[in-house]
Amino acid sequence: MRIEYKHTEIAVKKKLGQNFLTDSNITRKIIALSGALSTDRILEIGPGFGALTKEISTLTPHFTAVEKDRALAAFICRQYPTVQMIEADVLDLDLEELAKEGPLRVLGNIPYSITTPILFKLLEARHSILSATLMMQHEVALRLTAKPSTKEYGILAVQLQSFCDVRYLFKVGRKVFKPQPNVDSAVISMTPKPESPVENALAYRQFVRTAFHQRRKTLLNNLRDSYDLSALTPETLKLRAEALKVEELIALFSQLHPLEEKERPAGKK
Ligand code: SAM
Repeated sequence: MRIEYKHTEIAVKKKLGQNFLTDSNITRKIIALSGALSTDRILEIGPGFGALTKEISTLTPHFTAVEKDRALAAFICRQYPTVQMIEADVLDLDLEELAKEGPLRVLGNIPYSITTPILFKLLEARHSILSATLMMQHEVALRLTAKPSTKEYGILAVQLQSFCDVRYLFKVGRKVFKPQPNVDSAVISMTPKPESPVENALAYRQFVRTAFHQRRKTLLNNLRDSYDLSALTPETLKLRAEALKVEELIALFSQLHPLEEKERPAGKK
């Protein structure tokens, strides 16, 4: 499929998640709910044909955008010459470097196929961001904001909610995109918490992965090969990770010590 807009025609690239927003009420709502100010250092991910770019420009003409598609990057440079355009893969961006003069307000209708890597990249660079307001596949938005004991609650929800306040903002039906995707979308916001709830974020990430390794299994079954569980009560060990709130998982993590390599059962090193 080819799309033509303001004298620029492109062949739509499905693998770049190119579904362009056509409703300016939605872009206005995204910017309003993001809390973005004209003084913020804004980073837009995937401007495409500029649906959101146009709205951000009403706030401030000077901000940064990153776009992987060469033709679209050139389009944005022509239409919005004051925008600092980075033609690159967002996953290769050095966010700390971009934020060296102040934390970033991130905005974007992001490509569906790389939503999770983008979220983890933002999570890792959380000290460099004020907030991120992102449109994504509806089902992923539900997973990010899920509560315990629901089928959507898992590693993604726990990781994000441990370090950020995550809010589901609103649903966006598939009909407002061109070409129309097969799924609905939603807008979420994530705002890093001022204090990290754990000292070692990498070890915590590993713990969450291990605790949820087999969702239907108890903490005892998922954790016993990797951690010394002697500080936990038998009642706690009978629970499943999916039943615990984020704060309870953080508290649990603080009581555990990983087993030394030599203490782990064969095949679990
Ligand atoms: N913001 C526009 C809108 O709302 O209409 C376009 C959104 S479209 C869902 C996603 C955009 O991200 C496309 O312009 C696509 O080319 C761009 N994109 C895809 N993968 C990317 C990547 N890895 N890095 C940067 N931009 C990417």
